[in-house]
Amino acid sequence: MSYLMPTYAPLKVSFEKGKGVWLFDKENNKYLDALSGVGVTNLGHSHPKIVETITNQASKLLHTSNWYLIENQEKLAKKLATLSHLDKVFFANSGAEANEVAIKLSRAYANIKNISHPIIITANQSFHGRTMATLSATGTPKVQEKFSPLVSEFIYVDFNNIEQLDKYSNNHNVVAVMLEPIQGESGVIIPDTNYLNQVRELCNQNNWLMILDEVQTGIGRTGKWFAHQYNNIKPDIMTLAKALGNGLPIGACLVTDEVANLFQAGNHGSTFGGNPLSTATALSVIETIENQNILENTNTIGAYLLQKLNKDLKPFDFIKEIRGLGLMIAIELDKDCSPLLQLALEEKLLLNITGQTIRLLPPLILTKSEANTLVEIIVTLLKKI
Ligand code: PLP
Repeated sequence: MSYLMPTYAPLKVSFEKGKGVWLFDKENNKYLDALSGVGVTNLGHSHPKIVETITNQASKLLHTSNWYLIENQEKLAKKLATLSHLDKVFFANSGAEANEVAIKLSRAYANIKNISHPIIITANQSFHGRTMATLSATGTPKVQEKFSPLVSEFIYVDFNNIEQLDKYSNNHNVVAVMLEPIQGESGVIIPDTNYLNQVRELCNQNNWLMILDEVQTGIGRTGKWFAHQYNNIKPDIMTLAKALGNGLPIGACLVTDEVANLFQAGNHGSTFGGNPLSTATALSVIETIENQNILENTNTIGAYLLQKLNKDLKPFDFIKEIRGLGLMIAIELDKDCSPLLQLALEEKLLLNITGQTIRLLPPLILTKSEANTLVEIIVTLLKKI
């Protein structure tokens, strides 16, 4: 009997340790991790630099409070601001919490505009988290079932459909648009190249805040620090979490100066957010990505993997599409592929399945030979369904 609430249906495997892209169970069986704890351990497991940072910081100081200055927080905020060209940061503990900050800021923005019933536009099939506000923002009914009344008001438009968004141009209650640059949970949905530019343009014209949820796409996953940098645009608000701490919980909401000024002392807070340990770790994650040319590897290996998958999976005529950016990759079938999850585990491979789509989010340190192994296992799996 388990004493855990039944919120998950875990696979029957438990891991003892990890090294690089590999995980080891109690019997020391070795698994290729092509999921990275859902886009978290981008530097792989037990990265020596991250272990060293965590060990050093833990032996000095774990926690004080945001009622005192936290030097690591200042350093990390400066680094994130430099990388994103945004100005100010609030640190939280997760993606949902970072998105809560974005939603609260949109409400504060509505407040100064005297809008009493503000609307935030989000996308169908999006995912923004599991708190009441973020599940309300999430345009996926499955996530919202049972939890009404939802936080109002979110309106959902089709992702990658600029005309649908434009229809709200005359609606004075709209204050913000919140999108993932690439939809992750719904199966790596990549919009047209200039979609985000068009969204930016509409936000400018209507004085809407542009909120980009880069919780999954950020910190190098797509081969740039942030996926929206492919579009040479700047959002008003960007949220991060997952890979920022490589496994240590941390979330961040980055904003322009103008947006930051919507908050005053006392308007928001978090006991744990931005503590000395999580911020030291995130700083070390960023420095390691820089020092070890991880973005370059993501681009090179990502392109190699995509090309190899396209070549080696050609014989399978049930494959509809293979798509990806950096190391955020999806293989879409023309049929349900849920059984693959268990079959993959039996082949000692971790991946994600969403309906008809296999999602791969391997660590960004993946080598060419590990990429070859990954493709080999996928070929074996596809022969079984
Ligand atoms: N936003 C996006 C795009 C995500 O993919 C996720 C998690 O998968 C979240 C938000 C929620 O993050 P967390 O689980 O850390 O609250």
